[in-house]
Amino acid sequence: MRQVHHFINGQHVAGTGARKGDIYNPNTGEIQAQVDFADDAILQQAIDAAAAAQPAWAATNPQRRARVMFKLKHLIEENADELAHLLSSEHGKVVADSHGDIQRGLEVVEFACGVPHLSKGEYTNAAGPGIDVFSMRQALGVTAGITPFNFPAMIPMWMFSMSIAMGNTFILKPSEKDPSLPVRLAELFMEAGGPAGVLNVVHGDKQAVDGILAAPEIRAVSFVGSSDIAHYVYMNGTANGKRMQCMGGAKNHGIIMPDANMEQAVKDIVGAAYGSAGERCMALPVAVTVGKKTGDEFVERMADAARALKVGVSTDPEAHYGPVVSEVHKNKVEGMIQLGVDEGADLLLDGRGLTLQGNEGGYFIGPSLFDNVKPGMKTYHEEIFGPVLQVVRAESLEEAVQLPSQHQYGNGVAIFTQNGQAAREFASQVNVGMVGINVPIPVPVSYHSFGGWKRSGFGDHNQYGMEGVRFWSQVKTVTQRWPGSENVGDQAFIIPTMS
Ligand code: NAD
Repeated sequence: MRQVHHFINGQHVAGTGARKGDIYNPNTGEIQAQVDFADDAILQQAIDAAAAAQPAWAATNPQRRARVMFKLKHLIEENADELAHLLSSEHGKVVADSHGDIQRGLEVVEFACGVPHLSKGEYTNAAGPGIDVFSMRQALGVTAGITPFNFPAMIPMWMFSMSIAMGNTFILKPSEKDPSLPVRLAELFMEAGGPAGVLNVVHGDKQAVDGILAAPEIRAVSFVGSSDIAHYVYMNGTANGKRMQCMGGAKNHGIIMPDANMEQAVKDIVGAAYGSAGERCMALPVAVTVGKKTGDEFVERMADAARALKVGVSTDPEAHYGPVVSEVHKNKVEGMIQLGVDEGADLLLDGRGLTLQGNEGGYFIGPSLFDNVKPGMKTYHEEIFGPVLQVVRAESLEEAVQLPSQHQYGNGVAIFTQNGQAAREFASQVNVGMVGINVPIPVPVSYHSFGGWKRSGFGDHNQYGMEGVRFWSQVKTVTQRWPGSENVGDQAFIIPTMS
């Protein structure tokens, strides 16, 4: 059986311990490979390699670091088809979605190519007699990223491209469910001219994560995953003095106003709710309709649109979405659908029990649609992370804004309207980190930054953009005086407040 090993110091390294994870093919339910789980010795090997490589990498001038990023970008583009198929085979998302996963990560690699400009500091000439002050951004040292299963290309690229471009070295601990793509990215980084030890991949579960959080050599950790684990990682990392950014789960709402272009809204939301089997942190699993007429029309059209979706294996070019990632997750999503029924919501489309001929073992769930979901329900409060759309009926915009604002998660939100004033008001009032106006999945472009609020994000600084530059570097400020210049002679340096 195919074995997926760690990638340390530019080499594939087999695990030393007996612990391994099974990698499934979600289309068939079969085990297709195994991945080594790191023990402390393997993690230490990666830390040592990253620590040894870091001083020289940080001393490499930023233009040369950028050239590696440019080359990496080209290599990923050249290999995009192979990468997308590999990604789909372990994740289950359709190949077109895997291309999207790769593309959105690639855009951050592209942004990181601007590192010479991005890392320039600040300078004040003549802050005092003969005194200049300048600030520079310096690398932190050894850094790490811990990533979820649902974007095995995009999220690792968000993290390592920014960190490495800034002169750090990096240890990536990807999801154990689909670990092969991250290893391919590390191989391509070497092919792009990246020095050994700069990008390392260590596989594993809680033990590897705990090791990263405890390691004194690791200065900063970025985490993306579910909220309870994000909170755990944040608390433990900060307790050990690390810089931490930890993104968690989500339950994004889409508000449909009475004046929305209904045809467009339904088209957008059907993709945002069911695309990638709903396994996106920026999916839109809650539709809030404002007014009875809007609600009735939306539900009728959405039921038709969802019924027309094709669920298929990830290589089927006509499939809108593929299987969910695992049997455990399939059971969880189906359990939440049952709970929704028990809680009294109206199940208009039931996707449970879907089997595909020839792929009976695959983890498929058909599109499911609930109407009349209420804020007090557990299925409203919790993240379902499957192809399930819940419709909540509101009477007014004020009531609709309260729903995402008061929800435990605050990742993304969208409003569908033709009223600029209502949209503007909504964007400024809503208690959520990323807002779309007639945009169903408002993932910001790479030169802005990504981050949710409340239980969707713990710690400071967003992912990528200038926020990424700040997270992955530390500022040093130098105040310099050259006696004799500017005719100040040996005049004493006086701090203004002391004069
Ligand atoms: P997860 O929390 O199960 O796993 C994330 C990472 O944590 C993995 O690398 C995993 O190995 C590790 N991990 C798992 N259990 C752990 C434990 N007990 N202690 C320490 N580490 C542990 O998440 P997932 O199922 O892989 O991904 C889906 C979740 O990620 C969803 O909740 C989704 O909303 C969230 N997500 C959030 C964002 C965002 O940017 N906010 C983006 C993508 C996914």
